[in-house]
Amino acid sequence: MAAQIDPEKCTMCGGISRPLCVEACPDSAIRLQDDRVVVTEFLCEDCNECGCVCPDKAISVPLAKVTF
Ligand code: SF4
Ligand code: SF4
Repeated sequence: MAAQIDPEKCTMCGGISRPLCVEACPDSAIRLQDDRVVVTEFLCEDCNECGCVCPDKAISVPLAKVTF
């Protein structure tokens, strides 16, 4: 599993240049694609840093794997 981003909730905070989740991810697992944020699943370590910074609560991480 990996962090799941709900495109219905995401408002692209910070604009397309610096979304908070992209800035927050220590593994560079979130990238911009077609003006949306997407998670590269094999890079994601389910740390939930992105979920913590998302102002729209658009990111969920499988709870069993949250590491802190
Ligand atoms: S859960 Fe952690 S590793 Fe995965 S996308 Fe979010 S910040 Fe990056
Ligand atoms: S932090 Fe949340 S609202 Fe901001 S770009 Fe990422 S998913 Fe969207």
